[in-house]
Amino acid sequence: MLQIDKSQLNELKKALSSSKNIVITTHHNPDGDAIGSVLGLYHAFREKGIDSRMVTPNGFPDFLGWLPDADKIVHYSRDKKGVEDLLSNADLLFCLDFNGFKRVEDMAEVLEKSPAKRVLIDHHPEPESPFHISISYTEVSSTAELVYEVIEQVYGESIINYESAVSLYTGIMTDTGSFSYACSRERTFAIAGKLIAKGVIVEDVQGLVYNNFSENRMRLLGFSLAERMKVYPEHRAACIWLSRNDLNTFKHQIGDTEGFVNYPLSIKGIVFSVLFTENEGFVKVSLRSRGNFPVNTFSKLYYQGGGHKNAAGGKAFMGMDEAVKQFEELIAKHSIELNS
Ligand code: 5GP
Ligand code: MN
Repeated sequence: MLQIDKSQLNELKKALSSSKNIVITTHHNPDGDAIGSVLGLYHAFREKGIDSRMVTPNGFPDFLGWLPDADKIVHYSRDKKGVEDLLSNADLLFCLDFNGFKRVEDMAEVLEKSPAKRVLIDHHPEPESPFHISISYTEVSSTAELVYEVIEQVYGESIINYESAVSLYTGIMTDTGSFSYACSRERTFAIAGKLIAKGVIVEDVQGLVYNNFSENRMRLLGFSLAERMKVYPEHRAACIWLSRNDLNTFKHQIGDTEGFVNYPLSIKGIVFSVLFTENEGFVKVSLRSRGNFPVNTFSKLYYQGGGHKNAAGGKAFMGMDEAVKQFEELIAKHSIELNS
């Protein structure tokens, strides 16, 4: 078991008992771990009789929409005033699954202005310091796993109801690629077991999250692999690039390209994979690796981003052709590391 620092736990307990307006938030383009963690904490608080509200910088993929009370999350991109009101009245703010205010994009201003005490619960390396209580552990599989530890150590696991359990399970499952990476600790599986004991049906969650593609999304995946993937065996690297036009052709919805970046890593010998998706004014960069090549460092150096050693993101402020060309130069430059 991961023992959370006792003084942090005490501070958190004090903050919880003296707060009336609790808000829970997470990063921009929230993924399964982000939304699962937010809802997992929200439902545990509900079970304890504590009211809280949930806000995200923008919307989330359809394949997370079935999570209990996902529709109660207020999106800043849709309701700026609503989020501003919630945050200006909040006295305790939980920041889950991100390590610095840059990760909430234009909602950062509202977080900075909020008078609330800020609690970080996160598993990314090098957390920044605008948090009053910083519960940051990188050894856990996911923020959802850490939220479980926090709830258990503050209130005991009895307040984890089914709704909280299925949300946390979804977070752990998605951040570990269905228990295939970042989960070589016994504890991750022990917690998954405890969540299953609360009624989570593994095959149902798997089906709801992964076997839920629209036809367009499945065809976009096929197109990406057949027409837009470049493989550089000499550098053990690959990339996929998708223009705005490509995305429009397949009627792209938020979350549709989630997971695409992992496919090139299934090619024998490939240890580094990048997905470029064209946005307005920049190209979004998603990076994954297997083994020792640290994609967070790579992203920090070249894409103003960051993340974990084997999963990171960032942005390239240039056109698509230039982004791919620059990538080819960069993997040549890092070829020795990629081959070692
Ligand atoms: P994804 O490729 O799924 O967007 O992001 C993978 C991981 O990289 C995320 O879990 C997050 O840790 C990190 N990440 C993604 N985008 C950014 C970014 O713009 N800045 C930083 N610092 N990290 C990012
Ligand atoms: Mn995460």
